[in-house]
Amino acid sequence: MRNKAVATPTRTKEILDTYGFAFKKSLGQNFLIDVNILKNIIEHAGIDRESGAIEIGPGIGALTEQLAIHADRVVAFEIDQRLLPILENTLEAYQNVSVINQDILQADVREVMELKFKEGQPVKVVANLPYYITTPILMKLLMDRLPVESITVMIQKEVAERMAASPNSKSYGSLSIAVQYYTEAEVAMTVPKTVFMPQPNVDSSVLHLKMRHVPPVEVENEEFFFDLVQATFGQRRKTLMNNLARHFKATMDKQQIRVRLDAAGIDPGRRGESLSMEEFAELARHFYEK
Ligand code: SAM
Repeated sequence: MRNKAVATPTRTKEILDTYGFAFKKSLGQNFLIDVNILKNIIEHAGIDRESGAIEIGPGIGALTEQLAIHADRVVAFEIDQRLLPILENTLEAYQNVSVINQDILQADVREVMELKFKEGQPVKVVANLPYYITTPILMKLLMDRLPVESITVMIQKEVAERMAASPNSKSYGSLSIAVQYYTEAEVAMTVPKTVFMPQPNVDSSVLHLKMRHVPPVEVENEEFFFDLVQATFGQRRKTLMNNLARHFKATMDKQQIRVRLDAAGIDPGRRGESLSMEEFAELARHFYEK
């Protein structure tokens, strides 16, 4: 018979005691101790028997174990070497899991996918991310344009809200545009602190990102587009005109900026937070010079 699930308070404590494991705050180690939450995450991620799953930061294997049960195969990247013998033990019953001792920010995930998953297999990223590097990890996965179907991650509530935000909301900013350029973003659920050991200081949410096959807007130069978006939100309380004047001060005066804004059909008195993705793209088309 199988042992009790890893994701329970008693089993987690037992494992930590057995190995004398001390949490490293600097690695964002907050382990999940609630199986129902894990099952919910797996459901939101759309994991089924056909799926490949990539996990970032398996910890002692709470989520990894549930992925091993529900998916076809699982690849988990863990930076902390001390967790390897623990994972070997907690995941011993599952033949479909590979743990890779690597920093996800340094890993060649595409190459690992080619080696570990079947050709054409639908692959989903599922993780309870280390909060100190949530944004760099997600932006790396998105900008690398990995052939994954979706990314479902537990992250800090406030960051999840920023990533999924719509125009004219408090959370809307350049991060919303960056994430929604690559994905359809949705906050799937919020999660109480009590499901973690140790409990984090911040609230958490599960963010579901469905990868887009084509971007929602046509952009000639992505770097220019994202720089422009960032500049527009530069000083949130300032108008579009003021933020653009700062951004283009070396190459354009206010009159030239006004002409381009007029041509784009965008009022210079508006604030960045009111612009839709389509309007940002329109702006980029009128300001970009090859
Ligand atoms: N998945 C486990 C769970 O839900 O109980 C642990 C999640 S914990 C929030 C984050 C995990 O990510 C830790 O195991 C930590 O060691 C690992 N980690 C931190 N930085 C990492 C990095 N750069 N690359 C890979 N893993 C990392």
